Amino acid sequence: MKSLDELTSHCIRCGFCLESCPTFVETGEETESPRGRIYLVRSADEGKIAWEETRPHLDQCLGCRACETACPSGVEYGQILEIARDRLEREHPQRAKAALLDGLSHPGKLKLQLFLGKMLPGTKIPGLLSRMLSGEAPEADKPNPQPMYSWAELDESALPPVKGEVYLLEGCVMRVLFPGVHQATRRLLRRVGYTVRETEAGCCGSLHLHVGYLDKARSYAEKLAAAMPDDLPVIVDSAGCGSTMKEYGSLEPLALSLRSLEPLALSLKGENSGLKAQGSGLSAFSKRVFDITEFLLANGLVEELAKTNLTTKITYHDACHLAHSQGVRSQPRQLLEAIPGLQIVELQEADTCCGSAGIYNLIQPKMARRLLERKWRNIEATGADLVVLGNPGCHAWIAQAAREHKSAVRVVHTAELLESAFSGLPG
Ligand code: SF4
Ligand code: SF4
Repeated sequence: MKSLDELTSHCIRCGFCLESCPTFVETGEETESPRGRIYLVRSADEGKIAWEETRPHLDQCLGCRACETACPSGVEYGQILEIARDRLEREHPQRAKAALLDGLSHPGKLKLQLFLGKMLPGTKIPGLLSRMLSGEAPEADKPNPQPMYSWAELDESALPPVKGEVYLLEGCVMRVLFPGVHQATRRLLRRVGYTVRETEAGCCGSLHLHVGYLDKARSYAEKLAAAMPDDLPVIVDSAGCGSTMKEYGSLEPLALSLRSLEPLALSLKGENSGLKAQGSGLSAFSKRVFDITEFLLANGLVEELAKTNLTTKITYHDACHLAHSQGVRSQPRQLLEAIPGLQIVELQEADTCCGSAGIYNLIQPKMARRLLERKWRNIEATGADLVVLGNPGCHAWIAQAAREHKSAVRVVHTAELLESAFSGLPG
């Protein structure tokens, strides 16, 4: 992992990033811009201001990384934000935030919270914790888990022969809230000749990494890599998780340096059994990670989609951690364009954050709401029947806007839409 000094030194203060930043566009404040935040972080790192002074401005940042796309100087803003938030949490820990993350990133605890919320109306544990953090009522609804789809069993005789296996990140939020997305993903993988090798792998550490718990994120990363040891592709259908997993390498140098101390510590105790300093293999693991749309496009799904038909009008929202972090923009569009009958209307500001941003809509409800309403106005202007996207946070948040506006517009994951071309849109 690079140092804050090195990372922030690449900012030449040109300001090209300002208009790409949703919080700067909404407020017009330099301190709510990428350039302003980088300056504050550098000042805190140099000891010119207290770290606590950066908190309101780092908290207001969505971590959407639109500024990275706009930056001509290659500033790695995502890393700056992660390291700065980690420093801030170490110096001034927020226990409510840690508890909120713990509840969301553990499938069992998330299910329990949803169960309690159903049994005891008014028991909203995430809401309680977010009120402790922001002092405001959260804008996000209590999530409503999606049922599995009643699609007919796949007809093996009509499918191509199996040519390989992949791992699939089941994760935590997607597994609990949107199981139908994994169902669609598995079916699409089989349609291009791949089956899923089952694992007990859990959270990827994405939520922790993005809000400043680097040690916890590293621990999740190492567990996940260990649970998927063979040299198989790792498929991810959640933009935030895929972005984190593709950048696990940035967590590795510290893991390496800590590990390199182990033989020394053991030999000092007279217990050196020949243990060699080894990397955690996180960089190598990252190279095996693919967003589902990248993998399907590279493995011939376009040809299969050309034999289907789906008559409906859609628009596509670019999840920040697909478009800005992973550069995955054309792949989902190419797959969608391959479906005969599908009318695609381009969304204005398609790659501007919707305000969901991990736990942002729980801890920064006012700004999250402003961005959601902006996104919703653009969606309505398309006249589309469906909004297609690739991330569970955006999915739940934009679906909430549709409910509040009493709109018939439905929100679906790209994998659900693609599978619907073969199996029919679920009712
Ligand atoms: S565009 Fe890049 S170099 Fe220019 S101010 Fe923004 S972060 Fe700094
Ligand atoms: S990550 Fe998004 S909200 Fe944060 S500074 Fe960059 S563009 Fe602005």
